[in-house]
Amino acid sequence: MSLGNLEPLFTTEQLQHRIQELSQEILASYGGEPFICVGILKGSFIFLADLLRTLPVEVKVDFLGLSSYSGTESTGVVRLTHDLKTDISGMHVLVVEDIVDSGLTLSYLLRMLGARQPKSLKVVALLDKVARRTVDVDIDFVGFPIEDHFVVGYGLDLDEGYRGLPYIGMFPPSAE
Ligand code: 5GP
Repeated sequence: MSLGNLEPLFTTEQLQHRIQELSQEILASYGGEPFICVGILKGSFIFLADLLRTLPVEVKVDFLGLSSYSGTESTGVVRLTHDLKTDISGMHVLVVEDIVDSGLTLSYLLRMLGARQPKSLKVVALLDKVARRTVDVDIDFVGFPIEDHFVVGYGLDLDEGYRGLPYIGMFPPSAE
């Protein structure tokens, strides 16, 4: 089985460095108040695991499963595949997303979570494809803005493959 040699867009070291910086920004914004990270499955699970290990032990975690992609194309229809176990009413909630593309997924989930009356609702996204946005959404913390590439690795998949790649790579592999 191949480990998949794709051209790295962000190396493991770049990702870890940026996560340390994001963590400082996030902690400063909460000013010591407790919060819960809501990881969006499946793509954010590695980012969330690394981010969480830079945060205080009191920070809670839960997961929400959403799906809108088939292959390299969004279906445009967002489906809830797994709901939270936590009642988030009255809590500070930090949504942890892998990548924001059209913004459809994020706007759907912000509406859904907002209706549960959290004390506050913020978003951290590791990657932001700004130029692809079709729906207006506010992202509080962005790891890296990126161009319109399809990317895989570090939790991001192509038909469930590539998630374990320890860096973010560009798909398809460049022909050399
Ligand atoms: P949106 O609803 O913003 O168009 O899409 C967001 C979701 O689409 C992300 O959470 C991710 O699952 C998927 N997605 C968008 N762009 C990419 C990409 O370049 N690579 C991968 N693997 N997934 C993507």
